[in-house]
Amino acid sequence: MRISGLYRMTPDKRREEIAKRMQIDPSVFKGLDMRSMDIEDLDGMIENVVGAFVLPVGIAANFVINGRETPVPMATEEPSVVAAASRIAACTEDFTARCPESIMIGQVQILDVPDMEGALSSIDRNKDGIVSSANAVDPVLVSSGGGAVDIETRSLDTPSGAMLIVHLLVDCRDAMGANAVNSMAEAVSPMLEDLTLGRALLRILSNLAVRRIATAEARFDRERLGGTEVVDDIMNAYHFACADPFRASTHNKGIMNGVSAVVRATGNDTRAVEAGAHAYASLSGNYGPLTSYRIDESGDLVGRISIPVPVGTVGGITKVHPGARACLRILGVNSASELGCVLASVGLAQNLAALRALSAEGIQRGHMKLHARNLAIQSGASVDEAPLIVQRLIAEGKVSASRARDILLSLRGSK
Ligand code: NAD
Repeated sequence: MRISGLYRMTPDKRREEIAKRMQIDPSVFKGLDMRSMDIEDLDGMIENVVGAFVLPVGIAANFVINGRETPVPMATEEPSVVAAASRIAACTEDFTARCPESIMIGQVQILDVPDMEGALSSIDRNKDGIVSSANAVDPVLVSSGGGAVDIETRSLDTPSGAMLIVHLLVDCRDAMGANAVNSMAEAVSPMLEDLTLGRALLRILSNLAVRRIATAEARFDRERLGGTEVVDDIMNAYHFACADPFRASTHNKGIMNGVSAVVRATGNDTRAVEAGAHAYASLSGNYGPLTSYRIDESGDLVGRISIPVPVGTVGGITKVHPGARACLRILGVNSASELGCVLASVGLAQNLAALRALSAEGIQRGHMKLHARNLAIQSGASVDEAPLIVQRLIAEGKVSASRARDILLSLRGSK
């Protein structure tokens, strides 16, 4: 049994229902109250604070990930995203997801190396010492079972001359790891300069987290998707993305509609994940889709996604922001790896939702109602007037800002 009918409930009822089903204390939801943070808290987060920018958090229903029912909090301004993910999650029994590694890469750029071959072998001979001095920087990470694990090197020919690039591989466990890795990269730089006789310039994390890949796979029921023709057209849409970067870009944007909403809700860094995802999508030299699809012997659709997941359940603002804390509790994840599995599953569902909508009905139809509501509010309608305007816009099939304004004026004129 999955939580169903959330869309018919009031926000308070939804909180109650989810708390009951997931056996969490209903007070967890207080972290998502509009006034969960005061201006002093916010002032401590970034510079020159003047207020807060509020976004809705919705719960995507129907997700069963690795056998566990998982209500998925999504922070997004985009209508239809939560509903679409929930609808597609109901078309499969389970998402099988994995995120076996949590290794991030710190890069040190070394310039003016007099003897490249000598420098490369000198680093190779001193790997253990470099790894130990990196680990001296973060004993907490080491005691959590993580820390620097290896060193990789390569030389790059660039218009500024040859550069020696050192990759410091760090197991970040449950942290995203940017601060941890940056500190380690800075700490080992003097040693690398001594070993190479060069000059270290940039010392920073790479967001291309190729050693932190989450995969998810699911079999989606053909009939629940809309039948054989819809499934065939989903394959046509997918092959379009494989063959064309213009389409692949929007295909992957659809994936990130889901992924970024969960990344944001859990207090993680959306830019880090977005940068990694798009770089990974072009790793082969051709920008392509992060998902793949095939039709199995029974005619069902099997979808799969691989995506880098530089995210954490500790560090950054994950434990500081009350909304992030609440969302992590609602998700019920206990590690960064489990969070990665959720992100991959949501990305796959969101992508398939978009492909299905595009193939079966065109994206606008699904979007129309919430879009019409936004237009009604923009036109100046009150909460009481908006539903009447939405109804008229949809009935007329002409959903535009000018029409919303005309209807509002005529409503007010007729009073
Ligand atoms: P952090 O430094 O706040 O916390 C991580 C630390 O928590 C670890 O270094 C470790 O000492 C400790 N820790 C305790 N328990 C742990 C466990 N179980 N597993 C792992 N570590 C544990 O945060 P961070 O993760 O190093 O950095 C994340 C932040 O850095 C994000 O807010 C991100 O926006 C920001 N950032 C990103 C970039 C980038 O993406 N390029 C660059 C700089 C900063």
